[in-house]
Amino acid sequence: MTSEEFIKYCRIIGKNQDLVQGGGGNISVKINPGKMIVKTSGIELEKVSKKMGHVAVDYGKIASFIKKMSRQKNTRNEKKYMATLQESVLKKHGKQPSMEAGFHAVLGKAVIHTHPVAINSIGCAKNAEKMFQQALKGKKFAWISYKSPGLELSVSVLEEKQKAGGKNPLVILLENHGIIVSSGSLKECYEETIKLEKKAKKFLEKKGVKVHLASNMEPEKTWKNQLVVKELKKVWGQKTFKNFSKHFLFPDAAVYIETPISLENSAKSKVKIRENGVVEIAEHDSAKKRKIFQVLLASLCIILNIMQFSKPKYIPEKKVLELHNMELEKIRKKAK
Ligand SMILES: [Zn+2]
Repeated sequence: MTSEEFIKYCRIIGKNQDLVQGGGGNISVKINPGKMIVKTSGIELEKVSKKMGHVAVDYGKIASFIKKMSRQKNTRNEKKYMATLQESVLKKHGKQPSMEAGFHAVLGKAVIHTHPVAINSIGCAKNAEKMFQQALKGKKFAWISYKSPGLELSVSVLEEKQKAGGKNPLVILLENHGIIVSSGSLKECYEETIKLEKKAKKFLEKKGVKVHLASNMEPEKTWKNQLVVKELKKVWGQKTFKNFSKHFLFPDAAVYIETPISLENSAKSKVKIRENGVVEIAEHDSAKKRKIFQVLLASLCIILNIMQFSKPKYIPEKKVLELHNMELEKIRKKAK
């Protein structure tokens, strides 16, 4: 039986674009020894219901695999990892669990992983770890420098837990990615996530940043093609903004936006931004287009925030290629 609480928090978080965008973020809860409910791959948290969007897995099986890979110092066997996730599904014909189920399996009873805009405005900037220490004022957190989502990140999460003597870290901050909160209940995880997102926002404001959030960047709900962003005018033509269009700040930006953003009038690109704030997205499927738009909005908020107090740090090119290859693999699987 799926816990009502699980669905409730999927919805609350899914509706909050300042916490998750597109199909990003995931939630899990361990309901008895050996059984964990986790979001399925690719679905938006907002769409999780009693009937869809979650799957029950044998988390022990996944955790053993992550431990084995950590001992072998093998973080590259992505294929075997995906196969293990599928094998862990308790019900026949169950959907594929989220590719981030690996770190859910090794953490505490309840786990919430999100991509919050204010937290990522620190986490995607230079010297992020140091700034988080200032922002969170001595609060303990584990820090993971950028790792590819999936097996590599899951192994790092396990190793952070081992470093803490096997204790589940309450808060794990992920460079160029987001946050994981693990606790005894989803309520606690949710409240902690909100608290930290607020602290991050306050820290930015103290630095004199006019904080842009995804929720207040959708002025007339005209997400389709028009984005009226006054702020764009201020940064248009600046070197940092031009650089931003060629790189990715967090994994979902690379996955959803795919190619560099075009700031030119003529260039071919999946996503184009015009100086007057109009956004063009070359995608016919409206659900997909909406996801791309949400991820783009979050990216824009983050860069506009960072440009007011620091310099951005992007995902290394090699890691972007890895993300694109992972995506290709998924598409190939679906085509079969
Ligand atoms: Zn993530």
